[in-house]
Amino acid sequence: MYTLGIDIGSTTSKCVVLKEGKEIVAKSLIPFGTGTKGPMQAFEAALSESGLKEEDISFIMATGYGRTTFEKMNGEMSELSCHGKGVFFHHPDCRTIIDIGGQDAKVITLSSGGAISNFVMNDKCAAGTGRFLDVMAGILMIGVEDLETFALQSTSPISISSTCTVFAESEVISQLSKDADKNDLVAGICNSVASRVAALAKRAGIKEAVYMSGGVAQNGGVRTALSRELGCEVHFATDAQYMGALGAAIAGYEKL
Ligand code: ADP
Repeated sequence: MYTLGIDIGSTTSKCVVLKEGKEIVAKSLIPFGTGTKGPMQAFEAALSESGLKEEDISFIMATGYGRTTFEKMNGEMSELSCHGKGVFFHHPDCRTIIDIGGQDAKVITLSSGGAISNFVMNDKCAAGTGRFLDVMAGILMIGVEDLETFALQSTSPISISSTCTVFAESEVISQLSKDADKNDLVAGICNSVASRVAALAKRAGIKEAVYMSGGVAQNGGVRTALSRELGCEVHFATDAQYMGALGAAIAGYEKL
């Protein structure tokens, strides 16, 4: 029996195909999110990688910001529940999930059985989300995937004092015009995201072990800064960006 989870985010669409609720047989990621052809392309790519046809899938569960728009779904579930299920599947020791996506950040605490015990989220402000990093990487003319390399080489991070993405953008441009060290600037940008998300995490109440999910989890600069701010290790969830889709595929299996 196969189930498919699709996570339709603001910037990306991800799918996971699961066999019998426990074996991942295919994954796909398309860098286009809700309101684009990304979800359908991710769906087709996952089917093609698994060698399955649509009729072989017993349940299609959608999650993410654009979950209600996917016409092929059999059901939909909140991102909080799906991230919880996805991370707990790989890491049953997880008690706190920090999920930073393209336009929001969530902190979810789990019970020892994997149920959600608390959550807080920021979906109102781009600072403290992937969007902030995307904007800054654009100004610096580097890819988001390169931010980590720059940040981890910094010896003296530059503090970004603006709390608003638009003002922070001007601040970074001004630093660049002063010939600021790029490594130190990127480290300051990563620290800025981490300090915002750490404040959110402290409100939720941190319990170890802490795992990061979502696209920004791949940025070691943010992970290291978060770990420093929270005073505990922040682990990288396996397949971090696919956690919502995996959780949705698990939830789909539970419906059968
Ligand atoms: P959403 O579900 O909201 O579309 P994702 O969880 O897919 O968001 O995360 C998207 C964010 O992840 C992007 O805004 C970007 O900042 C970050 N990101 C994506 N790929 C990478 C990468 N390889 N390295 C670092 N950050 C990344």
